Amino acid sequence: MREQLEQLKRDALQAIGEATGEDGLQDIRVKFLGRKGQLTALMKGLGGLAPDERPVVGQLVNSVRDEIETSLEAALLSAREQATIERLKSERIDVTLPGRRDICGTKHPITLVTEEVCDIFASLGFSVAEGPEIEHDWYNFEALNFPPEHPARDMQDTFFVDNNLLLRTHTSPVQIRTMLKQRPPVRIIAPGTVYRCDSDATHSPMFHQIEGLMVDKGVTFGDLKGILTIFTNQLFGQKTGVRLRPSFFPFTEPSAEVDIACVICNGKGCRVCKNSGWLEILGAGMVDPEVYRHVNYDAEDISGFAFGMGIERIAMLKYGIGDMRLLFENDVRFLRQF
Ligand SMILES: [Zn+2]
Repeated sequence: MREQLEQLKRDALQAIGEATGEDGLQDIRVKFLGRKGQLTALMKGLGGLAPDERPVVGQLVNSVRDEIETSLEAALLSAREQATIERLKSERIDVTLPGRRDICGTKHPITLVTEEVCDIFASLGFSVAEGPEIEHDWYNFEALNFPPEHPARDMQDTFFVDNNLLLRTHTSPVQIRTMLKQRPPVRIIAPGTVYRCDSDATHSPMFHQIEGLMVDKGVTFGDLKGILTIFTNQLFGQKTGVRLRPSFFPFTEPSAEVDIACVICNGKGCRVCKNSGWLEILGAGMVDPEVYRHVNYDAEDISGFAFGMGIERIAMLKYGIGDMRLLFENDVRFLRQF
């Protein structure tokens, strides 16, 4: 029996030495010291010994158990320490690594230009006005002196919702809505989205305009040119001023196309300005008396001017963007540059 106890002790200590990890050590405890373990099985043989041998062997059993127990505890302790060290290693944070940045959005060039144009006109005393994008035919065409057979009403240009409703083809109906609500003096700027059946490299079926309107006693064509000169000089940061060419719009008389000196070549002539040195950027004119009649203004008493421009074109010129489609494709590599 002594021999068996010694053998059991050697087996146990060897197993403890070879065990890896806390779970393995717990298994050894069960195998040797558990209720159905090897030491318990041996103790059942104590009854078969001579009475004077029992205390001696009993003591030996106790010392073997203590020895295995102590060795197990020590191994468990070191296994736990090792596990903690491994965990700390795997969770280690390298504070010298560069941090992850939050991705910060930027404003779209269309928004940037719209805000800048509105800011410039705000400094000239204009306030921002808005109107619906689904508009009545009357506001979009009739009140602006487009006769019923005018080509702009053609299905090719206008998205009709029904006989009477359409997607506004310009921001000019905001002029009408404003004048119907307000008596002169009027000084508004109206940015917004407009729609036309048109799509190629230089046209989009949805685009943006800014409309301006100033009506008061004694407003002249000279005021129009003065305001537009201040505006274009501020927007493009130059002193070259503007050039007006006669044109036609149903709701202004006289009407003009407004050119600025080419911002690419400073008026010397280049591909963008087709070697003319000038770039057309907006249409303008004195409000036609026929428009005043629709909003119950007295054309004998007041006068005023209106102008409108495409925001995409201004953005392309200001930022040197070659293709209008870039403005609508939402490629973040393009948008992050602004
Ligand atoms: Zn040029």
